[in-house]
Amino acid sequence: MPRAAREAVWSIRLKREIDEILEKEAKRRGVSKNDLVKSIILDWAYRNGYNKVLHFNFRNATVTLWDFLLNQTVDLTVTSDRRLFCESCRAYSCGHIYYAVTSIPEVARKVRRGEIRID
Ligand SMILES: [Zn+2]
Repeated sequence: MPRAAREAVWSIRLKREIDEILEKEAKRRGVSKNDLVKSIILDWAYRNGYNKVLHFNFRNATVTLWDFLLNQTVDLTVTSDRRLFCESCRAYSCGHIYYAVTSIPEVARKVRRGEIRID
């Protein structure tokens, strides 16, 4: 079955101001507006118990997750200033990072020790 057949496609009416905010944020992150909105929805989903993520591994400075909602792996990189950066959402704050710091003991431990900084 082609991928498109398993995806829902719909349009949304937004106030111009909200669209402009999304446009600006998408540009800042270097992602499409579509991917930005997906990232925002996933962030909400993971903060509200719709956890569809599996911890893969923590090697070197990268935490790799499998995201069942996206159906792909997501890499979180520990930056030189000890923050987690999500390579999928191109952000320092997203549902993947929320999942990692709240549900992966190794990551939570590093946060407690100050080896990973959370804003
Ligand atoms: Zn993310």
